[in-house]
Amino acid sequence: MSRQVQGQVRERAPAPSQVNAYEMFQAQVDLVGGRLGLPSDLVELLKRPERVLVVSIPVRMDDGGIRVFEGYRVQHSSARGPCKGGIRYHPQVTVDEVKALAGWMTWKCAVVGIPFGGGKGGIVCDPSSLSPGELERLTRRYTAMILPLIGPQRDIPAPDVNTGAREMNWLMDTASALRGEPMYAVVTGKDVALGGAQGRREATGRGVAIITQLVLERLGGEVKGATVAVQGFGNVGSVAALLLHQAGARVVGVSDVSGAFYRREGLDIPELVRYVERSPHRLLRGYSAPGVEGIPQEELLTLDVDVLIPAALEGQITGKNADQIRARVVVEGANGPTTPEADVILEERGVTVVPDILANAGGVVVSYFEWVQNLQSFYWEEGETNARLARVMRRAFQEVWDYAQGEKASLRAAALMLGVERVVQAIRLRGIFP
Ligand code: NAD
Repeated sequence: MSRQVQGQVRERAPAPSQVNAYEMFQAQVDLVGGRLGLPSDLVELLKRPERVLVVSIPVRMDDGGIRVFEGYRVQHSSARGPCKGGIRYHPQVTVDEVKALAGWMTWKCAVVGIPFGGGKGGIVCDPSSLSPGELERLTRRYTAMILPLIGPQRDIPAPDVNTGAREMNWLMDTASALRGEPMYAVVTGKDVALGGAQGRREATGRGVAIITQLVLERLGGEVKGATVAVQGFGNVGSVAALLLHQAGARVVGVSDVSGAFYRREGLDIPELVRYVERSPHRLLRGYSAPGVEGIPQEELLTLDVDVLIPAALEGQITGKNADQIRARVVVEGANGPTTPEADVILEERGVTVVPDILANAGGVVVSYFEWVQNLQSFYWEEGETNARLARVMRRAFQEVWDYAQGEKASLRAAALMLGVERVVQAIRLRGIFP
């Protein structure tokens, strides 16, 4: 593209604070559709989700009162298979955000070549203010309310921000109780004792680490000795940081919602992981060690490093800070961390950005493996899962890289075009019902 196409994105992009994820998603589809020469009616179809469900979830709170939460489940496309995508608990979740995330899941599954479409869910809530009992009742009632949409052959949820194996276990148990039969394959990301895949919890971060290694090699470098900064020290960020540390990278900066830490010689990542595991809300707050400085969170993004891994939330690298990013490579662990405006600036400055729909696809790939194992009741060892994950990520990276070279496009444009092309092929082969 990409200069010209992304230039158009810049003109259309609203100020970062007003970026609406769904508008961003739709603008991308318009641009990719134009680049692929797709007819406008097909582009219109690709821009819209197949189904959007909005639910009001009444929950009995610990004080005896009832609180009503709003939740969503969006199915963007089932052209290539059952819909697949995580469930997010966050105070700022909106239906537009969930629609965008569902759409990006469609392209992501297509880019890595797994037989799923895209879906996503969310509940507007602040989980840190809810007790475990309240969270459990919220999750179970939400499950009951989205049950008409989900199922092993329809739509398979998974964890996302602020949800994990515990919530997925509750979801599976609730769906099984209501359907009167065990339904392991209704959700992925469960505990291993309940049919979860060995290695699923680490899969997204592992995929990010694999992609980081591959892109550094393509650019003539190597992971050993490379300096890395990671924004977000949750499921994705902490695992990516740990695996890169183990591969010989120097992870000099990490941050989470509670603070940011820097050490020029490299942080002790295993110690940080242990620290977070022991802390009540799994936060970095209060961490201290010799030579480690606390820095402002926004400074983490502009550290002078080889690789920056945004692994927190969307909209972190914006038109306001993109020209201060000093990393050579950005590997998007989070979904949508770079605004279109920032994308143009990074490209002009020669920063290589590996897009979310490729970089963080490891989670959905191992979710696919979990679903396959649940359907077959035949379980693999972790080594097999990790080896298969590495093969899928390597193949997808190679395909996106080659596409980008062939089209003289950015990796983001290439990944989007490849994903959209595969979905369009499925739509065309199926035809439009009736
Ligand atoms: P998580 O809740 O486990 O972790 C999120 C982390 O980001 C936490 O450490 C939190 O403190 C931190 N954070 C939040 N706001 C921040 C801020 N302003 N500055 C710095 N840190 C901040 O969530 P996760 O599962 O690791 O997901 C992170 C991102 O990766 C999300 O965009 C998610 O959609 C994406 N993702 C997750 C998966 C998965 O399998 N979990 C798969 C694909 C993509």
